[in-house]
Amino acid sequence: MSVTPVVRFAPSPTGLLHIGNARTALINWLVATRQHGTFLLRLDDTDQTRSRPEFAQAIVEDLAWLGIVPDRTIRQSDRLALYGAAAERLKAAGRLYPCYETQDELERRRKRQLARGLPPVYDRAALSLDEAARAALEAQGRKPHWRFRLDGETVTWDDLVRGPCHVDCASLSDPVLVREDGTYLYTLPSVVDDAQEGITHVVRGEDHVTNTAVQIQILKALGAPVPAFGHHNLLTNAAGEGLSKRMGHLSLKGLREAGLEPMAVAALAVLVGSAEAVRPVETLAELGGLLDLSHISRAPARFDEAELRALNARILHAMPYAQAQPRLAALDCDLGEAFWLAVRGNLDVLADAAAWAPVVTGPVAPVVDDAAFLKEAAALLPQEPFGPETWKGWTSAVKAATGRAGRALFMPLRLALTGRDHGPELAALLPLIGRDRALRRLAGESA
Ligand code: GLU
Repeated sequence: MSVTPVVRFAPSPTGLLHIGNARTALINWLVATRQHGTFLLRLDDTDQTRSRPEFAQAIVEDLAWLGIVPDRTIRQSDRLALYGAAAERLKAAGRLYPCYETQDELERRRKRQLARGLPPVYDRAALSLDEAARAALEAQGRKPHWRFRLDGETVTWDDLVRGPCHVDCASLSDPVLVREDGTYLYTLPSVVDDAQEGITHVVRGEDHVTNTAVQIQILKALGAPVPAFGHHNLLTNAAGEGLSKRMGHLSLKGLREAGLEPMAVAALAVLVGSAEAVRPVETLAELGGLLDLSHISRAPARFDEAELRALNARILHAMPYAQAQPRLAALDCDLGEAFWLAVRGNLDVLADAAAWAPVVTGPVAPVVDDAAFLKEAAALLPQEPFGPETWKGWTSAVKAATGRAGRALFMPLRLALTGRDHGPELAALLPLIGRDRALRRLAGESA
């Protein structure tokens, strides 16, 4: 890729972005940014009944959460004049022709073809209509939809992901580009925008492979340069089913609200089904260094929420205090670096840190099973200052004095000091709890 990339991410604002859309957005972003290129957000909002401004807004927010800030945003609904001009040029060149069949007629024709063992390809009947026949149909109140006349050639391209690709356009129906009501299907606006914006790399899901052959023909018919194309594999859910924007399934908003780290989502979205092992990364730039389009698998990649949660935990367990601090402060649980280092290894999501702050600051309702044992232990608790070795020294002394070991030694102490049967290392917590509070809790007092 020697040209400076100009890429676009082109969602339709008809639902919330899901993890599979994030994969496309991130791959484009990484392709652009690692070569100081340009990333456009293109809102494919020509479907006025399904497009919503609130989904457009959510797309911008979800991308920002992942760390993607587009260089520019364009909306297809602002650009209808461009598409109209392109349609006129194609008509003048004889590549866009009016058709009058109703859905029912087309369906009947398809069934007849299938019954005869023929491929259900549009038979181009409308191409042979003369002006009088068209006028007669229009006099019946019919309005035309418009099809692009494909060349019956095999279109080839060197796919950035899949390598050499070819599609025999003779086996495809001439695609409808303009509906009866004059609105555009996705294909023409997409091609016109890619040409107008000088897109150099079209990177998208492999559900668009066939579209690419058609789009290459339209680009050529419009005299526009053909960009490089790359089609990455799609993500499925853990059950192997496709993801859908309309289901809100595994939406980025949902993952964000579940408290997951954007870098965990980004790393998994990009690395799953690639040649690289899924692993924590600190920055998108680091992730960009791991992306190799030509090594993305051809098979669908399974997105497993359990894998995301595990990756999230790994990121938190290594997160430096400076990075966590503002978020701890926002959660009102910033008790300093020692606290963070004590609890981070126990977190699934960062917000869980808030649950451990009261264990330090109190009040904790101690759980006391054997008051006599705790009294003995309390008598052996060293004077302050407490340090990282205090716990070990103290429990060794308690062990020697009481003969207890293992769980019988540690669990009553944990239950009394924290009120819980699990949690961060007590060696790290004890200095934070301090001697006063520890003594009161060992005596069964809420402190
Ligand atoms: N709006 C299209 C989609 O969401 C864009 C496809 C493309 O990238 O060309 O699938």
